[in-house]
Amino acid sequence: MAKKTKLSACAFCGRPADASELMVPSQLPDVFICSECITAMSEALKEYRGQTGHKAVTLSKATMDNVPKPQEICAFLDNYVIGQDAAKKYLSVAVYNHYKRLAQHDDDVDIEKSNIIMVGPTGTGKTLLAKTIARLLDVPFTIVDATVLTEAGYVGEDIESLITRLLQAADYNVEKAERGIVFIDEIDKIARKGDNPSITRDVSGEGVQQGLLKLLEGSIVNVPPQGGRKHPEQHLIPVDTKNILFICGGAFDGIERKIAQRMNTHVVGYSNNASRQHIDRDNFLQYVAPQDLKSFGLIPEIIGRLPILTHLEPLDRDALRRVLTEPKNAIIRQYEKLFKMDGIKLEFTPEALDLIVDKAIEYKLGARGLRSIVETIMIDSMFTMPSTKEKTFTVTAEYALEKLQQANFETTIYN
Ligand code: ADP
Repeated sequence: MAKKTKLSACAFCGRPADASELMVPSQLPDVFICSECITAMSEALKEYRGQTGHKAVTLSKATMDNVPKPQEICAFLDNYVIGQDAAKKYLSVAVYNHYKRLAQHDDDVDIEKSNIIMVGPTGTGKTLLAKTIARLLDVPFTIVDATVLTEAGYVGEDIESLITRLLQAADYNVEKAERGIVFIDEIDKIARKGDNPSITRDVSGEGVQQGLLKLLEGSIVNVPPQGGRKHPEQHLIPVDTKNILFICGGAFDGIERKIAQRMNTHVVGYSNNASRQHIDRDNFLQYVAPQDLKSFGLIPEIIGRLPILTHLEPLDRDALRRVLTEPKNAIIRQYEKLFKMDGIKLEFTPEALDLIVDKAIEYKLGARGLRSIVETIMIDSMFTMPSTKEKTFTVTAEYALEKLQQANFETTIYN
């Protein structure tokens, strides 16, 4: 058996030696196979032998039998994500069609890939939606921040590194990774600055968008198994991105102004007063259209490869209140569970829950802040309660306020 050497990688899956339990040498010099591949092969062989006359169904032969219908996908999302009905509907249909596309094996009509872009304020559930979809479909899933990507040759990560992450999430199973989902967060941050192509280099803007294009449309990319920068002696793994679903998300701060501008011109130019009145001026985001993304600085080619455009609503008081208690893994449920494990029944009065929501709104923390507020309120009781004999614990609004004041929550937040 060979010792793991720094340079060797599995000749079969490309897994680097230090990511494998054991590298087994072949008859050829410097050619190794990793123990994980051997295990996978032995299982595949067992399955094959067990099915007389039938070959094991490979991942590339998807059928429609095991793909949930759009309404089922949406119902699943409802368990975890509050509101955002428009985004849920678009996502459900897009994901369903994506799998239909994978299941088609004839070539008469080529169904094009339905990559998605979600526009909405931060903390409204974009990442949560993408994560929940991946959980439902049980496919490899990775979240990448577009801000770390730069054009090849500059400081930052190569664009291919997002496929490396997916490969890692798939435990280096290339076939699995090729059917995964990549969530690219903060896509708005790679918008080119200004509406005109720049004369100076824009290494983290338009250059990255150009680089992303080939991944989005589907091509074979050679990825370094451990991400980072490519270098000449490195072993690269070819991954086909044709069937990888890309979901992009971004806050696109200020895009409302561009939408409003477009709509005002449009209304004045082509419509009558009646349709102008129908515009909901408090929420321009719902009218977002591809041309607004272009005015924001995404290049038309990228917009063309993200054909499904949907928006997320800001979470109002009512939605935040529901986020606290309703989702399957709602924050309050998590604390109830923590206490239950100590044999204590935890309760929050409705007034305490209202107070938590009020504070999240007051400090402009949105849904993301709910957790830190509850954590601040609960820290003392989580410290003392496990050592007491109490069987119940009720959090009232007075108690919650007292804890927030004691913890100087306000000053912590503002500093
Ligand atoms: P972003 O839109 O910035 O990607 P996230 O999806 O990361 O926001 O949301 C941050 C956190 O806020 C989530 O982990 C979740 O706990 C909560 N959250 C945000 N929006 C919702 C929502 N619509 N329903 C339930 N929880 C939400």
